Order: sequence, then structure tokens, then C-alpha cells
Amino acid sequence: MDKRSPERTCIGCRSKGHKDELVRIVLCRSDNAGDPAGIELDRDGRMEGRGAYLCRRSECLELALNKKAFCRTFRQAISAEAIERLRDSFEREVK
Ligand SMILES: [Zn+2]
Repeated sequence: MDKRSPERTCIGCRSKGHKDELVRIVLCRSDNAGDPAGIELDRDGRMEGRGAYLCRRSECLELALNKKAFCRTFRQAISAEAIERLRDSFEREVK
């Protein structure tokens, strides 16, 4: 097993892919206590924090949202606004 090419699992369709082929999404803690956490695309894979991976397909994002996979992966509720923002940047990214 080559440790430099780790495989990651898409939280939508559960298929495995090389991490460079998947889109990484990270949980961004808010600075203000009480504010909901945000989730953001991590385009170069260097952002700190807990990460989730998705294939570069809108279907996988929708699958993940339907299953509430983000809440499970990040172990907290993700606001509808945060989901909408993520969907916007995800659609731009995979286009
Ligand atoms: Zn997928």
C-alpha cells in the first residue's frame, strides 16, 4: 500500500477514490460562540479541521445531504445557509 496515495470514501455514494480525485470539505468553526459552524470547500486540501470527501458530481452532494452525512461526519448540525453556500461553491467547482 502506497501511503502517499491514500484512498478516501465519498460520503455520498460511499465509493472510494484517490484523495486528489475527490473534493474535500472541511468544517469551519465560527469565532463567535453560539454561531453555527460553516462548511467550506477545501480546494487545495490544506485547510485545517475535520474533512469529508465527495466525488466531483452534484449527485454525490445531494446524496450526502439526503443522508445528513455532513452532520454525521462533523458530529454537529449544519445550518441550511451553510449547506446552500456549500452547494453554490460545489456546483462552481465541479462544473
Ligand atoms: Zn460519490
